[in-house]
Amino acid sequence: MSTSPDGPRGAVARHTAYLPAFWDKSTNSRPIWRIDWGHPGFTHRTPPEATPDHQPTALTRSWEQPAPDGSGETWHHLHRGACLGCPWEGPDRRRADEAVEDAHDHTHPGWHTLPAVPERQGRGWLTHIQHLYPDGWFDRGGPIRTLRTGIEKRHRPGAAPGGGYDIAVRPTKRSPNPVVFLSLPLDNAEEAA
Ligand SMILES: [Zn+2]
Repeated sequence: MSTSPDGPRGAVARHTAYLPAFWDKSTNSRPIWRIDWGHPGFTHRTPPEATPDHQPTALTRSWEQPAPDGSGETWHHLHRGACLGCPWEGPDRRRADEAVEDAHDHTHPGWHTLPAVPERQGRGWLTHIQHLYPDGWFDRGGPIRTLRTGIEKRHRPGAAPGGGYDIAVRPTKRSPNPVVFLSLPLDNAEEAA
C-alpha cells in the first residue's frame, strides 16, 4: 500500500482503503477520501469493483479548513471528480456537483454540449430523448441533462436512462428553455403530421 501522505489514488483504491478505517471505530475516517454516499461505486463493506471503461463518480472527505482556492472561507468538505475505470482525479471542489461535472469531462467529453431536456414525462419521453442524444450514449453510462424548475437542483447519480447521471440544468432568464422543450411531443398529443 502507498505510504504517501495523500494515500492511494483513484476512486476504487481510495474507497478500498477507506472501508477498514470506517469500520475501525478507533479511527477518525472522516478526513479520508472515499466515494461519496450514493455515487457510483459507493459501498459499505465490499470494496468497489473497477469498471472496464471510464465511468464517473465523486469523492469526498471532511476538511474544516480554509478553502484551497485562497478565498479565505472555511470549507467543511472537499469534493473531487473521479473515475471507476482508472486512477484519474479532478481538482478540489467545494460542491459535489462541480466534482461530478469534472468527472464527466474525463469520462464523457462533450457532455455539456448535449441538449437540456425536460424531466421524464410520459411514454414518448425516452424515445424522443434517444433521438436527441448520440447513438449508444446512455448505454455507455452517459449523462442526461435535464431542466430543473423545482426545488431539487442537484445532479442525480443513476437517474439517466442507462444508469448514468442526471445533470441538472437551471433555466436562466436569458434562455428560459435552452433547448428542445417546445419540440417535445406531449404524451397524448401524438398526431400524424
Ligand atoms: Zn478514467
